[in-house]
Order: sequence, then C-alpha cells, then structure tokens
Amino acid sequence: SLLEPASADDHVCWGGGQRHPASHELWVKDLSVSYRETRALEHVNLHSRCGRSVALVGPNGAGKSTLIKTMAGIVKPDDGEILWRGRRLDGTSREIAYLPQRSEVDWLFPVTVRGLVEMGRYPVVGWWGAYRRHDKDIVDRALETMQLTDLQNRQIGALSGGQQQRTFIARALAQEAHVLILDEPFTGLDKPAQEQLCQLFGELTAEGRLLVASHHELGSVAPIFDEVLLLRRHVVAFGPVEEVFTPSNIEETFGTV
Ligand code: ADP
Repeated sequence: SLLEPASADDHVCWGGGQRHPASHELWVKDLSVSYRETRALEHVNLHSRCGRSVALVGPNGAGKSTLIKTMAGIVKPDDGEILWRGRRLDGTSREIAYLPQRSEVDWLFPVTVRGLVEMGRYPVVGWWGAYRRHDKDIVDRALETMQLTDLQNRQIGALSGGQQQRTFIARALAQEAHVLILDEPFTGLDKPAQEQLCQLFGELTAEGRLLVASHHELGSVAPIFDEVLLLRRHVVAFGPVEEVFTPSNIEETFGTV
C-alpha cells in the first residue's frame, strides 16, 4: 500500500553518491501467458537484481512485449509468478515503472514535459494529495538528470524521439522507481540520441536501478546491456551477455528451425 511506512528493508539504492549492496532481486518464475488461443510465453524464468540492465531479445511475436506487460501488471499470467524483493508483483508497486513503446503513446495529449514528469509523483502523493516542496525538488532533479530542464515547458508532441524517451524516463525517476521496464526504448532514435540514451542507461544502473528492455538491434546488445534473455516464446538462453549472446544461441532464437 502507498501508506505503508518505510521499513529498514526499504533502502533507496541510488543517489547521494553512495554505493549499495545490489541486493534487490527480481524473479520471474515459470511464467506462462496466453491470449485466448495464442500461447505467448511458456515457462519463462529470469532472475536479476538492482544495478543491472537486461535485454529481451527475440523475433517478432517472441513474447517480449507480453513479458514486459506482465511485469507491468497489464497482462495476467496463466501460470507462474513475478517476485520483486520477495513480494509478488500486482501492478501497483510504484517501485516498478513501465515505459511503453513510443508508438503506443498519444503524443497529441496536451501536457508539457514537466507536467508529464510530475505525473510520476501521483502514486506517491495521491491524486488529491499535497504536492510539496520535496516533490517539486524531485521533479526538478529528474528533469535535470534527463537533460530536460530547458525543455520542461514544451508540449510532449513537439519533442524529438530521444527527448520523448527521456521524458518518460524522467517520469520514472520522479516516481523513484527501482525497476524500469522499457519496451523498445532505442527504436526510432537517431544515432546521437541512441548514444545519449545508452550513456544514461549506464548511469541509471550505476546508481543501482534495474533496467529491463526489449531490444531489436543485435549489434548494440553488448555495448548497452549486462544480461540478455533470448526469447522465442520460451527462453532459449539467459545470462551475462558475454556468455549467452553467442552465434548459436542467436541462431536458435531467430532461426527457422
Ligand atoms: P514481441 O513483443 O516479441 O513481438 P508479443 O509479446 O507482442 O511479441 O506477441 C507474442 C504473441 O502474442 C504473438 O503471437 C502475438 O500475435 C500475440 N499477441 C500479442 N498481443 C496480443 C493480444 N493483445 N491479443 C492476442 N494476441 C496477442
């Protein structure tokens, strides 16, 4: 619940220049998901922790978006469970932020960059709660971290792709999310925007956040991500990129066999 008091276990694992024991764990256990007659995911397992970035890689229809939406609580599994810090995820935890594909967002919605980032505070203060100085400071910091301070009064529809992506990440930061689940964050960005986002990913994981993102471009998995889940409805392989992202595993994931 939002009103739950902080416990000793509720440490914030980023900020203040502190290093942290990367102890918060995400477990996806034996997860199976269907849409009516389509089986989208079969017995998927994944285990990661704060301070890492995980790429979800697989062909179209492999179930990447389904896994992301199940983690976000939008899609209900048939079987299995997702645990974050030992608790079952039910889609309400403000520690998890879901960032939809840019193509799924209504960019004509009349809201400024700042307005969208402020929405990250709603789960914290409540829709009718008091927006305090502390909340304003957090929004300011999120805008600054994502290099959006100068753009804060712009309508979201007037942004470039990279700026739009950073605005959603800033909202997740304002929410003080531990885990960012991103659907195709690099898709459609130009090279400089991709490089900037890659660098920001590195900063977010160094601060102790956990990033899970579907990713299309095979050539940039290794420079951006620590771990990779090769998905083809079932898990072909999961682990550190340097161990798992091998030609034979990639072929098994994308091949016609
Ligand atoms: P990916 O993101 O890897 O392309 P998806 O998770 O979108 O894969 O899709 C996995 C499978 O589930 C596909 O066969 C797709 O057609 C099906 N699917 C996805 N969303 C729906 C839906 N809303 N209703 C019915 N089937 C769906």
